[in-house]
Amino acid sequence: MCIQLALRRSKSVQHQNQRAADDSNQEIKVVSPGAGSMSSSTDTEVKVLSPVDFIQLQQYIDYCRLKVKDVMKEFDADGRLAQHRHGEEEECINEEGFRLFLKEFLEVEDFPADLCQRLFRSFQNSEHTGPDGTGSPAEREVFLKDVSCYFSLLEDGQPRDKLEFTFKLYDKDGNGLLDSSEVDRIIAQMMHAADYLGWDVTELRPVLKDMMTAIDSDGNGTVSLQEWIEGGMNNVPLLVLLGLKMTQKDGQHLWRMKHFNKPVYCNVCQSMLLGLRKQGLCCTCCKYIVHGRCANKNPSPCTRTYVKSKKETGVAAHDWVAGNCDSGKCDRCQKKIRSLHSLTGKRCVWCHTMRHDECVNQEPLECNCGPLRDHILPPWAIYPVIKERDSLKNGCGGGVDDSELQNTTPDGQVLRISPVPDTHPLLVFVNPKSGGKQGERVLRKFQYLLNPRQVYNLSNGGPGPGLHFFRNLLDYRILVCGGDGTVGWILDAIDKANLLVRPPVAVLPLGTGNDLARCLRWGGGYDGMDLGRILKEIEASSQVLMDRWSIQVIPEDSQERGDPVPYEIINNYFSIGVDASIAHRFHMMREKHPQKFNSRMKNKLWYFEFATSETISATCKKLKECLTIECCGIPLDLSGLSLEGVAILNIPSMHGGSNLWGETKKADNKGSDDQQLPEVIVDPDILKTSAQDMSDKRLEVVGLEGAIEMGQIYTGLKSAGRRLAKTSQITIRTNKPLPMQIDGEPWMQPPCTIHITHKNQASMLMAPPARSSSFFNLK
Ligand SMILES: [Zn+2]
Ligand SMILES: [Zn+2]
Ligand SMILES: [Zn+2]
Ligand SMILES: [Zn+2]
Repeated sequence: MCIQLALRRSKSVQHQNQRAADDSNQEIKVVSPGAGSMSSSTDTEVKVLSPVDFIQLQQYIDYCRLKVKDVMKEFDADGRLAQHRHGEEEECINEEGFRLFLKEFLEVEDFPADLCQRLFRSFQNSEHTGPDGTGSPAEREVFLKDVSCYFSLLEDGQPRDKLEFTFKLYDKDGNGLLDSSEVDRIIAQMMHAADYLGWDVTELRPVLKDMMTAIDSDGNGTVSLQEWIEGGMNNVPLLVLLGLKMTQKDGQHLWRMKHFNKPVYCNVCQSMLLGLRKQGLCCTCCKYIVHGRCANKNPSPCTRTYVKSKKETGVAAHDWVAGNCDSGKCDRCQKKIRSLHSLTGKRCVWCHTMRHDECVNQEPLECNCGPLRDHILPPWAIYPVIKERDSLKNGCGGGVDDSELQNTTPDGQVLRISPVPDTHPLLVFVNPKSGGKQGERVLRKFQYLLNPRQVYNLSNGGPGPGLHFFRNLLDYRILVCGGDGTVGWILDAIDKANLLVRPPVAVLPLGTGNDLARCLRWGGGYDGMDLGRILKEIEASSQVLMDRWSIQVIPEDSQERGDPVPYEIINNYFSIGVDASIAHRFHMMREKHPQKFNSRMKNKLWYFEFATSETISATCKKLKECLTIECCGIPLDLSGLSLEGVAILNIPSMHGGSNLWGETKKADNKGSDDQQLPEVIVDPDILKTSAQDMSDKRLEVVGLEGAIEMGQIYTGLKSAGRRLAKTSQITIRTNKPLPMQIDGEPWMQPPCTIHITHKNQASMLMAPPARSSSFFNLK
């Protein structure tokens, strides 16, 4: 169903508990077992947030479009909320002011009052409750800057901006200097945020203390903005905390905070990561592990992702990383690797085999890339070339175009691929915002399983850089991790990229209601299945063609303003009337009240509620008087129907699995395969035996009788709408504003003429039929 709308707008909230089911070492996880019992709506004494509270808060922040900075403007002297500043220097807000801050920042009307109260208390409770000299704030007030500092740490953004913003918040007179006690206050808010993000604050505190000592080297007690930012930008754990999104640079680890549920050892100081929560920084690409405090001590570089010159291509060698192989089996001598309370054994980053330290230098020295060999683009297939050649070709000096920027060495040489025989390197595109934060996790996993150079974050310049890097290969596959909307984006990019070959596309569906992915047997939504298994399925998948359709909407009166038409291409389906109207309302509702849409099941229930509401059916009553449909020049006779909606389908799934065309019994019209399929079929008897096919260059037209019927189809009580036609071209004319949708994206369209014609066929990968995982098929 139209859930993918929301995903496309990257505003999906994911059920956070899914995060836990990741791998044996749980990632940062704010849920703790039995956390619910810590919630304290009745106990007014408790001034800390429970983990559940914090998750709830994070979900709101995930949805939030505004920046703390913008909200702060409303508290300025001329802002709408100025009167809510209290205290001697008007630095404080009371609980009402705090509530308005949240309302403004999160753009929600009904933020839970009890959560708001607990959050407010947590600020009263924070370490520094009084600025120097002015004493503590009144009992029921908190400092506005503490509040904004805290929220700015949690929001999306660049560490440098966050450091600067927090500094300026506390720099009252704007002279670019803070005294050290004020910097201490910023650090206190950092710890406050870190604590809730699941960091071991005892680990972070000394790191920040050291940083402060280093910044204020003359010990005069003042810190300039420049010192503060420089200090922060050189502090690895702090950058990770500030949410630094690192991009792959050779030799640099991609750090992130991680919890370990078994003993692990630091690759720098070799001692164990201690503490109940056993956490440290772990490199996404090579699984190098360090204490927070050791991350600043020049750890050895991350694995190489390319070789130094073309001469070295084709030389397949293991790349060993020390340690944490406890109880793994040595691939050389087949004996168990026992950890003797130290960093033991070595793992190859590419084939993932383990060896004893003493077995590492034995044969075979050649790395075969292990079970994922078919997909991996190993470092010995990537080499740098001097940039000049390209510049000459482009006829302009120096400038590397945008698509190349991500595929260069640190000194600016352009990387090229030298194909590895008998492999199909996988070009992976991940939409990190799809499916809540699912996308980010999938991105990290692929960066580990494959070469980070073949895994692209779509928020980092879109599909261009990846397509450009792979453009000279003749045999490769693409994997799109995201919703149906993301797949459409990549297909468009392939159309426009002028590639030698059009690589086939597999889909790892993130989020919910991914109809295209479902039709290709990749399931409706990813729920944590082992990505290694998914890669194996991609290896076994088969290529299919999928029709794509151009849609042209010509308004009757070009002056009349409707919503913009969302797409020019239909990959999945197009509809007018009752179905689109539901999608439209649902979409608006979801944008407005994200918290009500935080689980897959709830989505279905809400949808049903909309589907059966009176107002919706009223909008589309007598639809047949508002439109005419022509299929290849033949007008459809709609007279005998009570029509409230029309759906035009390219694929057999719609709105999360409903098949509006319905199943077709195998008709035994012999030799039908040989027969040319007519351009258009409107005869109901022939339509009865026509099956749907995404590669027959035909669209299926279905009539929908009303909201109740739609509700029944979604909930499985009824199987299909009424078949009206199967056609290679369609023209629709409307005479009043009607709700419409393309691929789940709804809009309101004033009277118009719509032409839909065949555009081209995309090459897709269909998963092998038997998918054993049951949870993968959840909607
Ligand atoms: Zn260490
Ligand atoms: Zn690394
Ligand atoms: Zn290896
Ligand atoms: Zn061994």
